[in-house]
Amino acid sequence: MADTMYDLIIIGGGPAGLTASLYAARGGLQTLVIEKSEVGGNAARIDHLANYPGFAPSQDGAQLMRTMFEQAEKFGAVFSNERAQNIFIENDKITIFCSSDNFFQSKTLLIASGNSPKRHPIAGEERFVGHGISYCATCDGAFFRGKTVVVAGVDNAALEESLFLAQMAEKVYLIADAKEGASNLDADLVKQAKSKANISWVWQRHVVEIVGEDKVDGVKLDNGQELSTDGVFFIKANDAASALYASIVNTDDKGYIITDQNMTSSVKNIFAAGDVRSKGLRQVITAAADGAIAADSIRKYLQRK
Ligand SMILES: Cc1cc2nc3c(=O)[nH]c(=O)nc-3n(C[C@H](O)[C@H](O)[C@H](O)COP(=O)(O)OP(=O)(O)OC[C@H]3O[C@@H](n4cnc5c(N)ncnc54)[C@H](O)[C@@H]3O)c2cc1C
Repeated sequence: MADTMYDLIIIGGGPAGLTASLYAARGGLQTLVIEKSEVGGNAARIDHLANYPGFAPSQDGAQLMRTMFEQAEKFGAVFSNERAQNIFIENDKITIFCSSDNFFQSKTLLIASGNSPKRHPIAGEERFVGHGISYCATCDGAFFRGKTVVVAGVDNAALEESLFLAQMAEKVYLIADAKEGASNLDADLVKQAKSKANISWVWQRHVVEIVGEDKVDGVKLDNGQELSTDGVFFIKANDAASALYASIVNTDDKGYIITDQNMTSSVKNIFAAGDVRSKGLRQVITAAADGAIAADSIRKYLQRK
């Protein structure tokens, strides 16, 4: 509440925000986490969380996030179930206005609000999430070793991930809305993808339906053509949900917050961590690492004041 001046407010209780809250609270900072839904973020929705060291072959994401939350709360981090709606900065005081008409004040702010994958209104998609539909090649590519996959919609991010998929899948179909030679695709990435014998391009088409019984068996294209496949990846670059902060901190051309290596944004008392940040690899481990670094930087920033 507004009568408390927090040392740190964190927007977002995913792996980045939870890790930051643990480090900050342990470091003696009065810390509030504002989370609009369940704590745990995207990671809490992943049944088989891969690539998190120490858990083989995978871990229940919800369980891991619950443990992170309990750890942070045990060390004194405070949680509020609200949607942060506006950020107002006045000298060294930051005010966060929430959807419930509550507002909170703090000396520093960490934005850890993540990045929601865009939903594609394609028939059959929601039915097969976790049964052949994926939004992350780095996360799920290994499940398709020796199989056929479709990458639906091609931009530069999807091209990079398709090259990764081509290392393990037997066949990768790239379905591109664009004309062959489209100038918005990186020429070098296109060249690399064209040189792979197991990548097949389908230009100027898009997927209109995912078909199958209890798992993905194929896709229908807008010209009626059907392709058999074991999986469909939607991995076009996401626009960060940047409305909250875009006018306050510097962002890159996709709306992700630009930070230095200490997670400091272009505003000295505002920091960013996790998927919301401009960076190469968006995973639970990198989100958690960002959160730890951010909390340490914030503690040092406050000490210098
Ligand atoms: C389908 C899928 C599968 C994945 N599989 C893996 C995997 O196997 N292994 C792996 O390492 N990574 C995986 N990832 C990536 C991983 O989930 C993310 O990199 C990680 O969750 C990012 O953590 P974060 O804390 O930055 O953001 P998030 O987890 O997105 O958390 C952000 C939090 O901020 C909250 N929030 C947003 N805006 C507001 C607001 N205005 N007010 C209050 N709260 C707000 C959200 O509700 C959310 O809880 C996967 C991602 C997806 C989508």
